[in-house]
Formats: sequence, C-alpha cells, structure tokens
Amino acid sequence: MPTFVYMTRCDGCGHCVDICPSDIMHIDKTNRRAYNIEPNMCWECYSCVKACPQNAIDARGYADFAPLGHSVRVLREPEKGTISWKLIFRDGREKNFESPIRTTPWGSIKSAEEYAAPSKEALKSQELAHEPDALNIEKLPALTPDQLKQGVI
Ligand code: SF4
Ligand code: SF4
Repeated sequence: MPTFVYMTRCDGCGHCVDICPSDIMHIDKTNRRAYNIEPNMCWECYSCVKACPQNAIDARGYADFAPLGHSVRVLREPEKGTISWKLIFRDGREKNFESPIRTTPWGSIKSAEEYAAPSKEALKSQELAHEPDALNIEKLPALTPDQLKQGVI
C-alpha cells in the first residue's frame, strides 16, 4: 500500500510535493490538501512521510520488517535531529526506533537553475553535472582501452 494523507492534519504546505521522487504527491485544487495521485507509482521511499511537518502522511511498512496488519508511524523532529519510527504489529506488540536525521537542512541545496549553464563541450562529456568535483575526486575511475579488450579465459 502506498502513502495516504490524513486530511485533517495536512495544511497544504507542499513539502511532500517538492520531495517526492516519483512526482505523485499533488495538492488537491479544491480542498488544498495533499494526496497521492498515482498509488501504483509510489516507491514507498518514505521521503514525503519524513518531510511532512504535520505528520500527516502514512505508508505501509516494508513487509520484511512489518508483516500485514501492522501500522507504521514516522515522526520527523528537526529540533531534536531525529526521526522516530513506531511500529504496532497486528498482535498488539509495539516497537519504537529512533535514528538521526542525516539529510541536509531544508532549502540548503541549490536547484539546477542556480548553477551556470554547462558549456557545449560539457554536454558531450560522459560525466554527470558537477563531476568529478562534487565527488571530491580528481577524475572518475575508468577502464583503459587495453582493459576493455581482455576476455574471459
Ligand atoms: Fe513519493 Fe516516496 Fe512519498 Fe511514495 S513514499 S509518495 S514515492 S515521496
Ligand atoms: Fe500536507 Fe504534509 Fe504534504 Fe504539507 S507535507 S502538503 S502537511 S501532507
């Protein structure tokens, strides 16, 4: 089961819309609340669940840590620097986990349009944007032509 939004908690801030890698969290134009427009395309990555300041989004936990019939609630608390997970199993057992927030602060990453446009030469390169500088290396490791000719003996 993908994400769903508790309408009474959502205030329509749009953080889930901004962060969803599948671009499926949208704001309903009539009631100004978020909803998942394409549940089949949800990766269950929990990005929106963790980003929601209202704790308004829920999602199915992965089957390997929480079998059917459970509930998982995720609470992100930036002031404490933690993400708390509460699992309630169908037999009533409860587990609580707490992990540190490892992402950079909200809004601290520059968007693509804030960078200078790449040169024509860069567009022909096999390197991705900002490589290799962003990887803190001088150049990307690559096979030499003679290594490519080696076959299986
Ligand atoms: Fe998008 Fe991930 Fe949230 Fe699914 S769990 S709606 S893929 S951010
Ligand atoms: Fe609603 Fe939470 Fe999405 Fe904001 S991040 S729009 S409060 S569901």
